[in-house]
Amino acid sequence: MDKRLTVALVAHDNMKHDLAEWVAWNWEKLLSHRLVCTGTTGRIVAETLMERRSKDAANSRFDITMLKSGPLGGDQQLGAMIANGEIDMLIFFWDPMSAQPHDVDVKALLRVATLYNVPTAINRSSADFLISSPLMAHEEYTPVLKDYTSYIERTLK
Ligand code: PGA
Repeated sequence: MDKRLTVALVAHDNMKHDLAEWVAWNWEKLLSHRLVCTGTTGRIVAETLMERRSKDAANSRFDITMLKSGPLGGDQQLGAMIANGEIDMLIFFWDPMSAQPHDVDVKALLRVATLYNVPTAINRSSADFLISSPLMAHEEYTPVLKDYTSYIERTLK
């Protein structure tokens, strides 16, 4: 059996259709992982998985946690989960063509994912590469965390 990861999924409104198509395409792979989504994205992911599942395998279950909607704090909740080491992978279809009311949260989420070396896909092709990576199933693989001890213990006057 493949390694069970915690995969976070987020899509901005203009990108939700793309994410739904991507989930529909990859539903079988996603079922073997725990999913964590911001609120509205989670609703669409769950609907898509239910649709696919009922067509192909009525008894396959999925494990999905829905956080708050992104603009209402969901991105920050996800960022906190990343800082706590609870997220193994981030699929984040952010919208390059529209300003977001929670732009600072979006930046913070991408920053913290980078800081904690979380494998992150920011569009469909990078999500395809991540989900089909052999490292998804590799028991031994854990992303290397940078050592920030000298930063934490720096002298301040
Ligand atoms: P949503 O949030 O899934 O609740 O729409 C996504 C986001 O904008 O971060």
